[in-house]
Amino acid sequence: MISLFYACNDDPLVIGFSPTIERLGAEEMIHTKDHKTAYIFDPWHFLGRKRRRLMDESWAALFREHILCELPVNKVAPYFSDGMGRPTKELYTALGVLVLQQMLDLTDEETVSQLAFNLQWHYALDIADETDEAKYLCAKTLWNLRSVVIENHLEQHLFERSTDVLARVFKVDTSKQRMDSVHIKSNMRRLGRIGIFAKSIHAFLVNLKRQHEESLGNLDQGLVERYLPEKALGCFSLVKPSEAEKTLERVSGDLFHLVQRFADDPQVSSMYSYRTMLRVLKEHCEIQEEEGGPAEVKVKPSREIPSDSLQNPSDPDATYDGHKGQGYQVQVMETYCTHEDEKERDKTLNLITHVEVQPACESDAHALIPALESAIERGLAPEEVLADSLYGSDDNCQKAEAMDIEIISPTMGSVKQETISLSEFRFSDRGKIIACPQGHVPVRTKHKKNRYTAAFECSDCTACPMRQGCPVKPGKKHCHLRYDDKTMRIANRRTIEHSAQFKEKYRWRAGVESTMSAYDRTTGVKRLRVRGFPAVRFCATLKAIGVNLMRATAVRKARRAGQDPAQGGRLSLQSVISVVKEHVASVWGVAKLIFSPFACPKGTFQAHFAL
Ligand code: SF4
Repeated sequence: MISLFYACNDDPLVIGFSPTIERLGAEEMIHTKDHKTAYIFDPWHFLGRKRRRLMDESWAALFREHILCELPVNKVAPYFSDGMGRPTKELYTALGVLVLQQMLDLTDEETVSQLAFNLQWHYALDIADETDEAKYLCAKTLWNLRSVVIENHLEQHLFERSTDVLARVFKVDTSKQRMDSVHIKSNMRRLGRIGIFAKSIHAFLVNLKRQHEESLGNLDQGLVERYLPEKALGCFSLVKPSEAEKTLERVSGDLFHLVQRFADDPQVSSMYSYRTMLRVLKEHCEIQEEEGGPAEVKVKPSREIPSDSLQNPSDPDATYDGHKGQGYQVQVMETYCTHEDEKERDKTLNLITHVEVQPACESDAHALIPALESAIERGLAPEEVLADSLYGSDDNCQKAEAMDIEIISPTMGSVKQETISLSEFRFSDRGKIIACPQGHVPVRTKHKKNRYTAAFECSDCTACPMRQGCPVKPGKKHCHLRYDDKTMRIANRRTIEHSAQFKEKYRWRAGVESTMSAYDRTTGVKRLRVRGFPAVRFCATLKAIGVNLMRATAVRKARRAGQDPAQGGRLSLQSVISVVKEHVASVWGVAKLIFSPFACPKGTFQAHFAL
């Protein structure tokens, strides 16, 4: 089917013809629309000039012009049948809705309502059609589509495609980037140890009642009464601190009893809730078995519970971070601008180039290299990366150097003020010491693989005023200093850290904190509505697209505000053309109604004709 379209982008003179519907599938089941070709007649002509300008300055225009067409519908289409069932919703609209929902932190009901009635959403998603097919998506369809994206980890394609296009459109300089992580929480309650035991038992009993009611009847009814009713769980959150230890022993004993009771029942022991109890038992308890006697359960001390242990049975993927608590973390890498003029910085897009969700217990040290590899693969490679000391391990710096990337980060730990650093010794090009800070030459040096030894005269060292802080160790004949390549590299980095040049470069790292703040303020990333690692990863990744879109909108506005008068003249001309177009379009609309009586709703033809 061929339709005529009218320009709706910045350039009002673009006119084109385009097929409205493309078929990705063999039949007409996979529904997509061509959003690249501009319209001949502006479907948004009814917007007055001021509202239209407002719309064109908003995120909706940027989304429609640059991101909508880049949404990876080809990655999603294979998960829908091209021969069975009903046709899909228009896939660009459907994927766009998923992004906008996360960006604006909406519930499913709010999202359905926004798609149905919000003009800004229609503009962003290029929906000019007033039909239910175009503007209505039921909550179930939204849920199904989201499940497809989550289960197949397609959110990464959405992020990469939209980020790459913004980097291209805004000519983002990716040579300078900075990285940090932010702690986020899924929709789960914080539970203490007693709560974890009680909730695991409750979930098991609820499932046992549903699936094997006769087994529940055979259990001690006192135990069932303690954990099965919903109200019973509340009692465990009211335990006095003085009784906590006793209660913990009791709930662990009950859990152990249930695990033992059904261990030989293959139907019950294969239930998910039984395996959850087993996991809690292994993580929190020790089983003591004495010869001939019954096995006994002993609760482990809190410090022995691993950080990747179960935090709440309703979200088995959430883990624990000693500083930040339960949940997940998001690794974020973004570009930054070092221009001293604030106005110039406002016109530069700080783009999030990498986002990765991890369990909260993961160390930041493991996140840097995957981020660099991803950026290189997508042509967004940095030349230098600012990060805090956790990212800047010696191992990471070495790997990054092999990729031609410099990591600017302080070293871990600290040294005492009066201690002499290894970097204060003088070295030869081959890494051997040629003199100590007091100017004494070693009597002997040795080098084996990457380990070095320098021997100094004991008489020099004994009389040395710097002896207390010097890393040399007294030996039988000489005083020895032993070091390796890694120690030397770290010592050199410590010296550089005190330089003004390092401080000047590193001060830009702090800006990433404002990104994390905006990430949360704009999209609500720190408190998600979902549970489970795949769903959390989906939400956090799409919310990062939202941050990029909002920032790009602000940058485009700043750039347009700073355009020269010649450009302003061009814009005025465009405005005049736009007004003329609006009039032509409204006349065309009336003409269509007059000369297309069969397209009019019953009875309206006469009314328009009379007008
Ligand atoms: S203690 Fe020995 S090696 Fe260290 S600075 Fe003094 S003389 Fe040099």
